[in-house]
Amino acid sequence: QTGDIRAALIPRYVRVNTTLWSIDDAVQYFTSNGFILKDSYDSLQTSKQEFSKDEHIPALLLFHPQVSFQDEEAYRNGKVILQDKASCFPAVVLDPPASPDAVVIDATSAPGNKTSHLSTLMCNLGTLFAFERDRKRFSTLQTMLAKAKCKNVEPVNADFLTVDPSDPKYSQVTHILLDPSCSGSGIVNRLDYLVESEQETESLQEDRLNKLAGFQLMMIKHAMKFPSVKRIVYSTCSIYAIEDEHVVRSALKSDEALSANFELAPPNEVLPQWKRRGYPNEMDDPSHAISMVRCLPGEDATNGFFVSCFVRRTSDGDRVN
Ligand code: SAM
Repeated sequence: QTGDIRAALIPRYVRVNTTLWSIDDAVQYFTSNGFILKDSYDSLQTSKQEFSKDEHIPALLLFHPQVSFQDEEAYRNGKVILQDKASCFPAVVLDPPASPDAVVIDATSAPGNKTSHLSTLMCNLGTLFAFERDRKRFSTLQTMLAKAKCKNVEPVNADFLTVDPSDPKYSQVTHILLDPSCSGSGIVNRLDYLVESEQETESLQEDRLNKLAGFQLMMIKHAMKFPSVKRIVYSTCSIYAIEDEHVVRSALKSDEALSANFELAPPNEVLPQWKRRGYPNEMDDPSHAISMVRCLPGEDATNGFFVSCFVRRTSDGDRVN
């Protein structure tokens, strides 16, 4: 299948920004604009007039791939965000707290789809530090946060690897989302989505993938150094095990993971309803694969994607609360 054919089968995913709009109000708005709510979505049968609610991600609506939202008022005023389904997984798996004293980091934020998703899951409470090292992409992030009316986000134009985990400012950080630069090899969808990855154009030589994997591992190890962190989600839009399972398996063996007691979250905390899991034969312990989630372009009506989650135990083996 070429990317175009696979893209044509990906529904138009529309995430309701629950900071500004309830799901019920959004559904009512679309039905009063001539759309018909169906119980489920079928790529080959759903017509341009029909839409449905996603079965895995709350607040995600599915429309026909050819329905354009660029001129839609609800898109222009930030009430909905055009975001691929798989790209909604990391914030849901991170499951950040929604309380005034919550402190969360999005380490690699621009253009900000996952940041605004985290912000709504936090009910706009507490503080969400959103790091982005690239100046131009940081400016896109700021525009997106303003449009989505994210009030609990503190955007920071800095390299996450230069952030000092012992800085008192970050002493209360409990949750970190890591969605770092990757090969973008899973991306097949339309160009009118705000492109999250800096997609590679040069050929993906092994050397290049190894460099990316080294950087991705460094990011996870750095996140594990934050003193109060207890949950870290690592995701990529890569289909290569070298950037996915292999990075996770190295992270689990790292000094940082061993000294801070990090392990993979149990499968029931990582989208248990989603059938496609990690590749067992790419892990040292094949039973770890079930704790990870994969999406295959052309098979799952999404882009290619990978999600894993590290959680911390106390030295007695209990989960850190
Ligand atoms: N999470 C974003 C979203 O859903 O909209 C997409 C993130 S994109 C895959 C990776 C981003 O991380 C890029 O914008 C890149 O510039 C940024 N980045 C890469 N390394 C970084 C670092 N060390 N510190 C901060 N940002 C970084």
